Amino acid sequence: MADKIKVGFLLLGGCAGCEMSVVDLSEKLVDALEHIEIVFWAPTVADVKYNDLESMEDKTIDVAFIDGMVRLDEHIHMAKVMRKKAKTLIAFGVCAALGGTAGLGSLHTKEDLFQKAFKNTPTTDNPDGIYPQPSCLVDGKYDLTLPAYEDKVRTLNQIVDVDYYIGGCPPHHSHVGAAIGALVSGQLPAKGSWITNGKAVCDVCTRNPAKQGGNLARTMVDKVLRTVDGTPDADTCLLQQGYICFGPITQGDCGGSCLNVNIPCRGCGGPIPGNEDYGAQALSTIGSILKDDTVTAQLMEKYPNLAKFFYRYALPSGTLPKRM
Ligand code: SF4
Ligand code: SF4
Ligand code: SF4
Repeated sequence: MADKIKVGFLLLGGCAGCEMSVVDLSEKLVDALEHIEIVFWAPTVADVKYNDLESMEDKTIDVAFIDGMVRLDEHIHMAKVMRKKAKTLIAFGVCAALGGTAGLGSLHTKEDLFQKAFKNTPTTDNPDGIYPQPSCLVDGKYDLTLPAYEDKVRTLNQIVDVDYYIGGCPPHHSHVGAAIGALVSGQLPAKGSWITNGKAVCDVCTRNPAKQGGNLARTMVDKVLRTVDGTPDADTCLLQQGYICFGPITQGDCGGSCLNVNIPCRGCGGPIPGNEDYGAQALSTIGSILKDDTVTAQLMEKYPNLAKFFYRYALPSGTLPKRM
């Protein structure tokens, strides 16, 4: 039997939902373990120390999956260490690939975020306004340190060279299975590519008018609704009903999960190939199909923070942060 592929998982600034999608493979994971050997999985599964990874020989890991965005100096350090240890590095999930929802924090100053988190929430009792410090001396003798908080959220490829990208928040488990299958069979796309089925969410959506034998002509959107405004018809394209859906510009590796439960796509799958700035593309696509200025005004009223709406998963990867 051929040597097993040595695989590592490293979580940076994320919720570990991406790693849950690996566990969600259930019995398929057991099958995969005939071909792969998990040699590192931290901090989610194994309570290891930095040194356990640092002390590995370089290029010991065949394929490393890194999930989560980069916000702490610890994330930067560990991403660089993992890059040295891995022959192939995958940005796993939309946080690592594009910055994720936590990336929206880059629209606020560090001071704003600290004030909110450590002073102003209703459940916080912090009369002296003490913030966590990167280092502090306890009882005059114990020098304790915490990771330092960087000014902005960064994507993995803003720190290290990334070989492949997988979208989703989290990636759909069936797509994770397909990605592991591609690894095992060696059928990977060109370096720098997204591992994807190449279809947009609209392509896999059963509401797509093209699949229903409907009118293929471009239909302009004549009103903007949020899901709190009503219950969308379950069989009709959400965009055509006025519910803003990012299906046309998002990779459909999830199989249209949100549409299946009557929720518009919000773009976690990442951009369809050829698009370098997801939020700008989303704004341009949606803006171009709004019928008139009245509908544009409705969009701005319903979504007062358009940057957060269009860049929900992708702000750190776009051009907007570079201009702020
Ligand atoms: S991409 Fe989503 S599921 Fe994965 S770590 Fe980020 S927030 Fe969690
Ligand atoms: S815009 Fe949304 S609802 Fe309409 S076909 Fe595309 S994915 Fe489906
Ligand atoms: S439909 Fe869109 S937001 Fe929902 S899981 Fe799929 S890619 Fe993500």
